Amino acid sequence: MSEVTVFEKIIAGEIPCEKVYESDRVLVIRDIAPQAPTHLLIIPKSKRIDSVDHLVDEDCEIVGELFLTARDVAKKVGLGSGYRLVMNVGRDGGQTVPYMHLHLLAGKKMDESTIGE
Ligand code: AMP
Repeated sequence: MSEVTVFEKIIAGEIPCEKVYESDRVLVIRDIAPQAPTHLLIIPKSKRIDSVDHLVDEDCEIVGELFLTARDVAKKVGLGSGYRLVMNVGRDGGQTVPYMHLHLLAGKKMDESTIGE
């Protein structure tokens, strides 16, 4: 496992963030470099998992929790017209922080042709 990530520091309260929602198990913050009018990061708190590639069967509940939190937060912040969920995996997948997290992007009409870019 590599050095402590920015998300571990945020969870520990060592660096500030713009918090949207928090429970015992999940933290939702605004991305510092938003790629859409609404760009949230849904981050599991219970343990560090570097990426989807590092998941084990027992992590099933954590993964489910990320998606259910996305659904609830989307409702809470009024994203009734839709949103995009993205999880980058590894270097070629565009992952820059080795701590698994879900991106929630919204606030504009997403281009159907840009998912693979
Ligand atoms: P990824 O590239 O999928 O690993 O996503 C990491 C995301 O974390 C990027 O969209 C960054 O803009 C975002 N990010 C990095 N540092 C911070 C921070 N201190 N607060 C909020 N978001 C951050």
